[in-house]
Amino acid sequence: MKKLLFILFTIFSVNLYSQNKEFNIEKSIYYLASDQLEGRFPSTNGDTLAVEFVENVFKDFNLQPLFNSFFQEVVFKDIHSLSQNSKQAGPKSKLSRNVVAMIQGSDPVLKNEYIVIGAHLDHLGYGGPMSGSRSKDINKVHYGADDNASGVALMLDLARKFSLNPTKRSIIFIAFACEEKGLNGSKQFLEALPFETKKIVAMLNFDMVGKLKNNNLTVGGIKTSNKSEKIVKKYSYKYNLNLKLSKSGVAPSDHASFYAKYIPVFYFTTGADSTYHTPMDKPENINYKGIELLSSYTFDIANDLANRKTKLKFRKTKDTKSNPVKSTLKVSLGIMPDVTGSTDDGLKAEIVSKDKPADKAGMINGDIIIELNGKKVKDIYAYMDILSKIEPKSTISAKIKREGRIKEIQIKL
Ligand SMILES: [Zn+2]
Repeated sequence: MKKLLFILFTIFSVNLYSQNKEFNIEKSIYYLASDQLEGRFPSTNGDTLAVEFVENVFKDFNLQPLFNSFFQEVVFKDIHSLSQNSKQAGPKSKLSRNVVAMIQGSDPVLKNEYIVIGAHLDHLGYGGPMSGSRSKDINKVHYGADDNASGVALMLDLARKFSLNPTKRSIIFIAFACEEKGLNGSKQFLEALPFETKKIVAMLNFDMVGKLKNNNLTVGGIKTSNKSEKIVKKYSYKYNLNLKLSKSGVAPSDHASFYAKYIPVFYFTTGADSTYHTPMDKPENINYKGIELLSSYTFDIANDLANRKTKLKFRKTKDTKSNPVKSTLKVSLGIMPDVTGSTDDGLKAEIVSKDKPADKAGMINGDIIIELNGKKVKDIYAYMDILSKIEPKSTISAKIKREGRIKEIQIKL
């Protein structure tokens, strides 16, 4: 009897631990965005510590690997290596890792269908001219607390919740490598799948979810299925969220790789602010209560998707080009456009960089560009298209909208 009690006690305490999981969103972000992890640049020591951290959390939650282990190797070209090696050799191919786990569905048939919940783990390391840093402080750790330790922590929190609440369909959790390098992690994940891509019912992507303000949340991809818009609205009321909806399945983040394979996608982001891609993107600037709220909201959405009777029907959205902001142009206004397409009447300048042409011409954060040189700027694609035909050092006339009023300005490049 004593022995039995002891065994029972042991089982009970193990369960208690596993329900407790010792996991904490805030602590995870402080760790992932610490000096020790050095900005999680792919294939560095900081990257290794980050992928091992995610693996350990998956293990704590008793998740199973989807592949032979929790790791999937991801190849990328390190353009930083160009400056150190001879140019003729070209950029070096290096390796990083996706961390992938699964919770098997409880329904004998539906368990062969999947929901994928993902967030990219990599960031810009020490910055530098080729990294995508917006800061002049090169060789300073770019912590990437919002971009995207926040998304990874939210994804892990959902893994914790679903490990205690299994669903009919299976759910895959993934921390993507090399998003900042060109979505390599998500693309290579889809190529390595042990089942057909059409078995993925939906993909949820979290990229920069740590800056919830006034409960404003952007959800992208809502026209990539027949039911997405209805679903995201339905659960938002409970949490008093103000949704900014964007139709397209294309954006410079990992869900775009899934959309390209005809999978309905949901892209959650609280948007960029002035700390974006700078060393100031630190854990102390994160809204932790906000992430908790988004975790509850997106749990409801994923739970619905993983249990509903019928699958979502994929829909193509209008945009067909990919990665608009990451292509290179000869000219730049010095703004960071709102890539989520949350405005209908033009392109919003989320951030206007100091002392750059747009700033000098009097633009401020939040201005909406309606026209450039007499041509309508409907969206990011029109904007890129117009800029691609403009020569350096010319002057552009721009119509912008600010608080409902339209202004005309001249931007000297
Ligand atoms: Zn990101």
